[in-house]
Amino acid sequence: MSKIPPSRAATEAHTTHELPAMSGEQALQKLIRGHQRYVTGNPRHPHQTATRRAAIARSQRPIAIIFGCADSRVPLEIIFDQGLGDLFIIRLAGHVLTDAVLGSIEYAVEEFGVPLVLVLGHERCGAVSAAVAAVAGGGPSPGHIDTLVNAIKPAVEKVKEIPGDVVDNAVRAHVSLVVEQLRSSLPLLAPLVQAVKLKIVGARIDLDNGKIDMIG
Ligand SMILES: [Zn+2]
Repeated sequence: MSKIPPSRAATEAHTTHELPAMSGEQALQKLIRGHQRYVTGNPRHPHQTATRRAAIARSQRPIAIIFGCADSRVPLEIIFDQGLGDLFIIRLAGHVLTDAVLGSIEYAVEEFGVPLVLVLGHERCGAVSAAVAAVAGGGPSPGHIDTLVNAIKPAVEKVKEIPGDVVDNAVRAHVSLVVEQLRSSLPLLAPLVQAVKLKIVGARIDLDNGKIDMIG
């Protein structure tokens, strides 16, 4: 991105043996191709050798930031068939957007010029299910789980009257709300989105067949 001095960008490109920086759309297509390899049972497990580890030990240039749930069934390098240095990953139960998460995303965008942010929700998300139960009249969740539930409640409120699976509808609505929050986030992200230097998209993964579909 523009804030990286050309000399430094060139050094990173040299030391990591990376191609020149790609656009957000190109990064997304690369993720989708990796995901198709995973879904069809033909993963290449790229960039997982000692050679790769050595090549990126002193610098990194990930192609995407992925913000997803901490759920054990959605390990992001595996489901997108990527390796060391490819993805800047943030995972938190229910992918709840906190200041620390936002700061992490801003850091990767500013420091590494990452052109793509993908917010990934998933089928049968426990955190979203807890928020659905809370909105339906359940009591507060124990301990600090309430923090997650409260952050997801707006998505549940948005879809609770809509026919269909309320948890799945809420997963999609929650992804959309987080995407919108990121796209409009000042002072760093919104101007980059408007200048088409940063692409921010949402998706949801099906736990049964492993497939993702884009949201919005
Ligand atoms: Zn989840």
